[in-house]
Amino acid sequence: MRDTTRIVRATLSAAKAGEPLHSGPVFASKFHLNEDAENTGYTYGRSANPTWTDLERAVGVLEGREGGADVGVRVFGSGMAAVAAVLGAVLRVGDSVVAPKGMYFGVRHLLGEVYGAWGITVRTLDAAEMVDPAKLQGARLVWVETPSNPHMEITDIAMVAEAAHAVGAVLAVDNSSATPLGQRPLDLGADLSICSDSKAMCGHSDLIIGHIATRDAHLLAAVDRERTIRGGIAGPMEAWLLLRSLPELSLRLQRMSANAGLMAQFLSKQDGVAEVLYPGLKTHLGYEVAERQMRYFGPVLGFTLENRRAADRFLAACRLVTEATSFGGVATTAERRGRWGHDAVPEGFIRMSLGLEDSEDLMQDVLQALRASSE
Ligand SMILES: *Cc1c(COP(=O)(O)O)cnc(C)c1O
Repeated sequence: MRDTTRIVRATLSAAKAGEPLHSGPVFASKFHLNEDAENTGYTYGRSANPTWTDLERAVGVLEGREGGADVGVRVFGSGMAAVAAVLGAVLRVGDSVVAPKGMYFGVRHLLGEVYGAWGITVRTLDAAEMVDPAKLQGARLVWVETPSNPHMEITDIAMVAEAAHAVGAVLAVDNSSATPLGQRPLDLGADLSICSDSKAMCGHSDLIIGHIATRDAHLLAAVDRERTIRGGIAGPMEAWLLLRSLPELSLRLQRMSANAGLMAQFLSKQDGVAEVLYPGLKTHLGYEVAERQMRYFGPVLGFTLENRRAADRFLAACRLVTEATSFGGVATTAERRGRWGHDAVPEGFIRMSLGLEDSEDLMQDVLQALRASSE
């Protein structure tokens, strides 16, 4: 069986006459107890919930080869809650973390400002340096994000896993851009795979949710404890909505990636567009590694217009590309990334996330907007 079949089957409830094919969300803060409360599984809604269990089983199918039966998953109230649970589970005062310079700004802030103040040392490297064991020496945790956000840098997960394990470090991969259908960090050697499911996993731009996957029972117990104690849980409704969007994830990713590939090629040929960043372009620095480790190149690309004015005019002139932050939704969106001041990007840099529209319509619209931006 292939993943696309498995994920559809994984969202069905157990075959029992009269029961619905797909179970609905279970809203509960407390559950009936018996004399052996430990073994009922469900006691209080912050520790466990049947809708989480359904979702975690389905996500596990995507995270590991052959249906991921040996993979443990824990769902969280946001991608950042999942990130925080990994840091809380792995790090102790005095530990050091190695992470890429180009990581997601939220993770950079949490590591640098919060954990830095608690006595954790954070060393940042260029993505290309992450594969060198000498640079990882002394690290308790190695953090990788690939493709990175918003620079679209590609890191060879298998090579970093080898380097990290050689120095006794735990490797965590932020897989939010690719999703576990697009790339399976655990099968490439990572110890922890983290995903903000608010992006392409959900795909409908209406949820904030995230998850962690691991094959290591100790790490799974530690992240589970973090979730229960700190309380960064997902509501049953959100968990159920994510479960509901998983069977069509493969269709969405396929179409979004195809649209992104066509748009990247199209943009590369336009005057006034510099430096189109998309891992599916043969000219991209990380193309060969991306080809090897990713199943889909994903919905996100970056490109640079002459200056801030050109980028603002471009976004204002687009009719089919909606100005919005984040990525991975069914509708094509874009933003001038520099407006936030989070990332070291040129003033004219635009991050675009391709949706499910017809690619011809999108390219026509982008062409007229590029013309308007240079007038
Ligand atoms: C969005 C994102 C996060 C944070 O996830 P939330 O669901 O917004 O909390 C973390 N890492 C990456 C790479 C992201 O894109």
